[in-house]
Amino acid sequence: MFQEKIIEPKYTKRAVIDVGKFCPMSCRFCYFHHLGDLTKQKYGDFNYLKNEIDRAIGRGNSYLDYTGGSPTSYPRITELIKYALKKNIKSCLITEAIAGKARVNEILESGVDDFLVSLHGLNDVADFLFDYPGAFKKQVGFIEQISGIMRFRFNFVINRFNQDRILETAKFMQRWNPLVINMINMNPHYDWRFDTAKKDIIANLREVQPQLEEVIPFLEENGIGFNLRYYPFCRLDKKYWKNICNPPQVLSDPCEWDYDLQPITPEKAEKWIRAELDNIANKGEPCRRCNLLRICGGANKYHHEASFDAGFGEIYKAKYPDDIISDAETFDYMRYRKYNTACLGER
Ligand code: SF4
Ligand code: SF4
Repeated sequence: MFQEKIIEPKYTKRAVIDVGKFCPMSCRFCYFHHLGDLTKQKYGDFNYLKNEIDRAIGRGNSYLDYTGGSPTSYPRITELIKYALKKNIKSCLITEAIAGKARVNEILESGVDDFLVSLHGLNDVADFLFDYPGAFKKQVGFIEQISGIMRFRFNFVINRFNQDRILETAKFMQRWNPLVINMINMNPHYDWRFDTAKKDIIANLREVQPQLEEVIPFLEENGIGFNLRYYPFCRLDKKYWKNICNPPQVLSDPCEWDYDLQPITPEKAEKWIRAELDNIANKGEPCRRCNLLRICGGANKYHHEASFDAGFGEIYKAKYPDDIISDAETFDYMRYRKYNTACLGER
């Protein structure tokens, strides 16, 4: 049922540098939504960030992702990119992609290797989600500017306001021939956990599932890798389980972060996965009696609760796949994921 080819998983060697939470946008689903106006937030101290780069390299990482907030707005980002390059480390900026031409040119000239462009819908959907009139127009300008220069990547956060726009947005993204598209299920982390409004922001995965099952083969037939992050296995056809990257898979993804665990060993990874799932995973039905629990990790408990509050009812369904036959196999976290050759190759 799978393609023949597999990639033998290796632990990531990518670290994250957080430049601070300043951001010109105000995304309705932002994990930092509860901090209020993000334009009032501060950037990280330059020397502290340089030290973070040194620490990441010292742990054995070979690639950096810059997050925020807004790394493209950070005034000294080009200095950080150059500093890392001198140490033979390449950089990717995760970006809302509204920076103007001159700024993008400076960043390109500094030697940036990749952009991970956050695009959550088209036209008025994008503007609404960013709560920033004209955002989509600026994003298109940004994408046009970088598209001839590099094969970048896209992020798309799946939420209530774009849950019916997945296919049209994926088709728009495909036109730019990105290397990889990540779709990230909005799970209520941080202060969203306790916010009763979380029921209004999470997507109804029953609506999402059929679109994903159309999008994944469409993108892969066009040579574009596809990752689905933090998503229940039971809401996707088995042939696309290779595309799901949940806590049990995340440390073996070359584009995910080392979470300060480098050098990662199987023992450290297992401890991290257990701690992570202890915090966020649903411990009750139906996950408790699901044979996929160890590989899937279980539904996010806050998403699970919010699904009931939203009136979606029971959206998870326990599966009993015939091909998980031994205890050892239930611990083979990369059992399906290793077939995602478009996403697991070296960068
Ligand atoms: S661009 Fe990122 S940091 Fe800024 S508001 Fe949106 S999700 Fe939050
Ligand atoms: S029932 Fe729970 S553990 Fe099983 S696939 Fe669904 S979300 Fe994952």
